[in-house]
Amino acid sequence: MRALICATIACVALTVPQTAEAWGALGHAVIDEAAIDALPPDAPDFLRKYKQYIIDTSSVPDWWREDNGSFSKIGEETNHAWYQEQLPLIGELPRSRTKFLIELARIQQSLTEIGSPAAASLNARGVGTMPYEIASVYGHLVTGFRWYRNLKAAAKATQSAEMACAFYVAWMGHYVGDGAQPLHVSVHHDGWQGANPRGYSTDRKLHNRFEVNFVESINLSAGDIRPYVTSVDLLGGDVFEAVLAYLTASHEHVEEVYQAEKRMAFTDANDQRARTLVYTRTAAGASMMRNLIFRAWLESAMPVDRTESAYDPVFMRETGANPARQSRAVAAGKP
Ligand SMILES: [Zn+2]
Repeated sequence: MRALICATIACVALTVPQTAEAWGALGHAVIDEAAIDALPPDAPDFLRKYKQYIIDTSSVPDWWREDNGSFSKIGEETNHAWYQEQLPLIGELPRSRTKFLIELARIQQSLTEIGSPAAASLNARGVGTMPYEIASVYGHLVTGFRWYRNLKAAAKATQSAEMACAFYVAWMGHYVGDGAQPLHVSVHHDGWQGANPRGYSTDRKLHNRFEVNFVESINLSAGDIRPYVTSVDLLGGDVFEAVLAYLTASHEHVEEVYQAEKRMAFTDANDQRARTLVYTRTAAGASMMRNLIFRAWLESAMPVDRTESAYDPVFMRETGANPARQSRAVAAGKP
């Protein structure tokens, strides 16, 4: 019901999103470098050894969505976006990607029945799945770290586990980096959509002008953003909720991008406000990436949870599984 009310009020018909790269190769490389540099001393040393590998693979998830019509692209595309303006139409987010997609289809059907134009974009592509993918790959990383710990405890070679973990770090880090780019968490990702009282640009090229051209023109480096990287936060509470909050905070900067575009800052490498916006946003991405890596490392010291929980009948019927449980607390000082 809430969805229907919102839809009739907003009634914004959104265009089908097009591919955007998010930060370009340089931005992602810098975020990953700064994240690894900011790991605390009790994080596993091998990640520092694989730093260049992590930097080199930081844009791989973008390559997965280059080939039009491929299963790879179709499955991957939605992981790079999380359009906050769509969320009021959805309400409480299920702790399951499968259930989330079922809910989207259900709400879209309801919107279609009342003739709402919002129905056109209320789908996986028009909303995104980024937090679900981050939470999933975070889980892969916990598993990889646990494998490493087990090999180490058995005095066996750890190289295979190290390589897997390094790749999981780059894979997860890519979406965390995307999430720091305000245009990846907004329906205004490629030019302003719908009502436009402030006269913001509707130019589709603005996205690349910000994240690729401007970032390259200022020669962004890990050294530039290091002063803005925050101290370690173990993300107490639930990881999925922490990721959602992180993406919501990123959305607060959408208009700053449009204001910068308005004063033509992205063609002026000396524009200090635009530089600071890039520094602080990429640093937010590096900080969150570092936090998730370190939290995953601590969580991997805990035993696998094999307790059987009671079946949730609705989830079981629709998805064949229970919703994901809340994250277990991790303790600092137990690396
Ligand atoms: Zn991306």
